[in-house]
Amino acid sequence: MSIVSAVPTHPDIIRISLPTPFPVGPVNVFIVKQDPIVLVDAGANTDEAYERLEQRLADQGLSVRHIGVVLLTHGHIDHIGMVNRIVHVSGATSCAHPDVVAHLRAYEDDAKDALAFFVGVMRRCGVPPDTIERICELRASYKTLVERIDIARELHDGDEVSGLRALHVPGHSPSDILFYDPVRRLAFTGDHVLKGVSPSPLIRRPRPGEAKVRTLAEYRQSLQRTRALEMDVCYPGHGSPFGNHREIIDALLRRQERFTQQVYSFLETGPFTPHQLMGMLFPRVAMDTLHFGLSSVLGHLEILEDRGMVFPEDRDGILYFSRRPMENGTETAPGREEEKGVQLGPITG
Ligand SMILES: [Zn+2]
Repeated sequence: MSIVSAVPTHPDIIRISLPTPFPVGPVNVFIVKQDPIVLVDAGANTDEAYERLEQRLADQGLSVRHIGVVLLTHGHIDHIGMVNRIVHVSGATSCAHPDVVAHLRAYEDDAKDALAFFVGVMRRCGVPPDTIERICELRASYKTLVERIDIARELHDGDEVSGLRALHVPGHSPSDILFYDPVRRLAFTGDHVLKGVSPSPLIRRPRPGEAKVRTLAEYRQSLQRTRALEMDVCYPGHGSPFGNHREIIDALLRRQERFTQQVYSFLETGPFTPHQLMGMLFPRVAMDTLHFGLSSVLGHLEILEDRGMVFPEDRDGILYFSRRPMENGTETAPGREEEKGVQLGPITG
């Protein structure tokens, strides 16, 4: 018999699940009934989602016009889509990480740059040209789902907003912000931590002056920071609110480590391109989820490279990864460094 500990509920926090046209399925937004009324995240920009939001607000005796503040957990299309509409109708103050602010201010051009960067990554990773072309077409069809907008306030790590503390937890995206209430021991976690799903740290463009992006390493660091927070409830971007965030984060870190080891084991018969490794790790990855699959494999390769266990070779512009033989001719066992580097036990104090 298992004892399931109940997750504390907050009657002033209303979860609204909104449909999206993406493979991820529905996305959550949250209303915090305080003065002014806060909306956390803004769903995907479809009429269906907007109507659902209005209906659910009406159930609470509210409408979009009553929203005073919009907080964005990160810049992904299923979380920011309706911010323009909502701000236009309500005059709410929108707040986000500076990366999201910059992205939305120069939306058309920035989206083009982001896609050009991703196309370059896909080529280097050995993704076939016809697949790249189809992904570009798919991305073009998403274009109408985001609009250019001036976000009113940039949120930096540690800023206080609407009684919540903004904590920058990059990894899943460079702009991930967790909105933490240390008094009520709760947080709005966006896609930073989800229950039953491993959020992929997605490939991102390096910032000016940044030599190399290490998304998975960055993500793991952020997870450790979140793990140390004292809280009873996480309100996530997808799925139901959950407690026990430390257990969930530990399981996530262990799962990531298993995948890192799997990638290393595939390379026994290598060399392979990241795209080939993605096919082995996720045999059923679809066109619209290739971004996640490829990002995941690149993250595991980063970790293995950092541990000195694999190395890339450039063959006509395409990267092939191989295991690195050790000085005595053997190969390192995966995971050793992990036991030192990642704290899986409880953090106290
Ligand atoms: Zn996301």
